[in-house]
Amino acid sequence: MAGSLYIISAPSGAGKTSLVSKLTEKDSRIQVSISSTTRPKRPGEEDGINYVFLSVDAFKQKVAENDFLEHAQVFDNYYGTSKSVVESKLAEDKDVILEIDWQGAQQVRKLIPDAVSIFILPPSLKELEKRLKGRGTDSEEVIERRMSDAVNEMKHFNEFDYLVINNHFDTALAELHSIFLANRQACAKQYEKHNVMINELTQQH
Ligand code: 5GP
Repeated sequence: MAGSLYIISAPSGAGKTSLVSKLTEKDSRIQVSISSTTRPKRPGEEDGINYVFLSVDAFKQKVAENDFLEHAQVFDNYYGTSKSVVESKLAEDKDVILEIDWQGAQQVRKLIPDAVSIFILPPSLKELEKRLKGRGTDSEEVIERRMSDAVNEMKHFNEFDYLVINNHFDTALAELHSIFLANRQACAKQYEKHNVMINELTQQH
């Protein structure tokens, strides 16, 4: 039995991490793949919980060993998804979320065409800026750069299967969850899971 793979992308500040974290609290079948990164830890972040924090050399070593399902340079740092972590979670029938950028999303879509991809948008640029400032961890210059990076990220929205607009958190959360719930009922997935029962039901008398 295998779970499904979900790609969730968003510009920084759209609320992706909060939505995903509430979603996994709400539905224990959904798990997030913890990425590796070379970026420095932010206050409150823990190694192995938010990311696996690696040196550039260690990251490059993993690339050379083909350990990543996808990897990309985002802003000034490297990020990658561990192949073995994703494979083992899927084998446990978990729905696995990859919180990755549009470049990673393109790579995963090529490798796994069945992956369901979701893009999260903020309701406006003004709100996005407010949220980026609200985090209070970055300087004005970094925020400016992130705003322009955000616009570049958002230009890729139409490469995704689903679009969720995070205006009201609870509404966006329900909309996001509904994608998972509907995908689980896909005919092919239901047949994979319940084939004995379905074969019995559809046998000719
Ligand atoms: P942050 O540094 O703010 O946590 O993340 C910055 C960006 O890197 C976000 O757009 C996030 O989706 C992306 N990102 C995080 N992990 C990965 C990953 O494993 N692969 C790719 N391609 N992007 C990632």
